[in-house]
Amino acid sequence: MSPVLVWLRRDLRLHDHAALYHALKSGQPVIPVFVFDTDILAGLPQDDRRVEFIWESLKQLKTELLKHGGDLVVRYGRAVELIPQLVAEFGVSAVYANHDYEPSAIYRDQCVATALAEKGIALHTFKDQVVFERAEVLSKTGGMYSVFTPYKRAWLAQLNDFYLKPYPVVRYLQQLARLPAQYFPSLKELGFARSNLGELNMPVGLAGGEQLFADFCQRIDRYHEARDFPAVKGPSYLSVHLRFGTVSVRELATYAYRHGGAGAETWLSELIWREFYMQILWHRPEVVEHAFKPEYDALPFPNREDWFAAWCEGRTGFPIVDAAMRQLNQTGYMHNRLRMIVASFLVKDLLIDWRWGERYFAEKLIDFDLAANNGGWQWAASTGCDAQPYFRIFNPVSQSEKFDSEGKFIKRYCPELAMLPAKAIHAPWLSKPLEMQAAGITLGVDYPLPIVEHAVQREAALALFRR
Ligand SMILES: Cc1cc2nc3c(=O)[nH]c(=O)nc-3n(C[C@H](O)[C@H](O)[C@H](O)COP(=O)(O)OP(=O)(O)OC[C@H]3O[C@@H](n4cnc5c(N)ncnc54)[C@H](O)[C@@H]3O)c2cc1C
Repeated sequence: MSPVLVWLRRDLRLHDHAALYHALKSGQPVIPVFVFDTDILAGLPQDDRRVEFIWESLKQLKTELLKHGGDLVVRYGRAVELIPQLVAEFGVSAVYANHDYEPSAIYRDQCVATALAEKGIALHTFKDQVVFERAEVLSKTGGMYSVFTPYKRAWLAQLNDFYLKPYPVVRYLQQLARLPAQYFPSLKELGFARSNLGELNMPVGLAGGEQLFADFCQRIDRYHEARDFPAVKGPSYLSVHLRFGTVSVRELATYAYRHGGAGAETWLSELIWREFYMQILWHRPEVVEHAFKPEYDALPFPNREDWFAAWCEGRTGFPIVDAAMRQLNQTGYMHNRLRMIVASFLVKDLLIDWRWGERYFAEKLIDFDLAANNGGWQWAASTGCDAQPYFRIFNPVSQSEKFDSEGKFIKRYCPELAMLPAKAIHAPWLSKPLEMQAAGITLGVDYPLPIVEHAVQREAALALFRR
């Protein structure tokens, strides 16, 4: 009997997996394959954390597959060429994969589907990484939602057991193809090196996703109160696992939905935000390059490169901004509250095009997701959907006082400010010279002077947007 391929991409797990389930149910032997796609890898730094995360996750996946008598085929090259080649190599009769909604992935999948169709092979694809996809949640008039709250209401109204039901993959795993031992390339052979993931103790792969979720379930009831404070262990830290599918979104949403209470409800809302931005990208793919609101597309940002460099490197002189950017640079993660603060600061204090910041986040974030990142940036820049009017401008100092009142987070990433008392740490330039002396800090030497004055820049931003 000819086998079928399951082409893994953003779904690096075995349980509750739509494409794998349908492939196993076909009754044919199933060969799971992952391609390190050079179209995606080209241009990434050697120590890219995401590549290491994927590589580690695949190692775990391979171990699991071996336990069930199967194996994982791993290849390196262009997926558009390798998938048709693998079909020929293994004499495959069909390919199964899960939907991907990013414009470049949609194009890739169309190319693969066409190449396979020429050989008379079908590419069967399935919804997997979201509860509701594409145009499944529409307004009463059949249009897309561009405001979150009504979208969320409609999302919840449409939810039922059918959409949350897990795919019972495990009971069919004996259907995995018996393959000769498959080679697993080293990171070096893929052109990459270890990043600092190991030092960060970041839980990776299926096991990491499970561990983080189990840990978060103990804290979910406090999520709504704790999630905004970067020094507190409030959020789930599951974003990278949702990004690469080492957890199942159906499983997470089911847990939150059934658990109930303010914490779980707020967390479920965050999962809905994720799908909200995915449907925006699906309906309006031009947001990748353009403002969602066309009238904001050509804002005349002055784009000072020296200010952009200071922002990237965490030396703006605003401790909360600098600590956040250093967290991003050192770990690949940034707390949600801080993403909002630094994005607002870049656009509305430094008057730099939101696309510059979006690109920098895309390079650095381990959980980088085109839809969420674009949506988050356009929200912060007031150029996107949902209601964040341009005249609502975050004050980096009051945000810092409110969400890191004791300066614990700041001190973690700006240790040079460790001796400053809490009340002085949010705006060190306002401290008395004696206080600075006691803390052993000379501004402009040990820590930068602020590169801008918030009140002045605020007026400049308002003028720029009004124009
Ligand atoms: C400027 C900006 C850029 C962002 N870029 C990304 C990105 O590239 N990738 C990404 O996953 N998230 C992005 N976010 C959303 C959010 O900051 C992260 O999802 C969150 O910080 C991840 O941490 P967590 O898993 O602990 O989140 P939790 O608070 O535990 O939330 C659970 C999950 O819900 C989803 N989620 C939460 N908030 C949002 C949101 N505002 N929009 C969409 N999904 C959300 C994520 O999948 C997250 O893992 C961005 C937000 C902003 C303001």
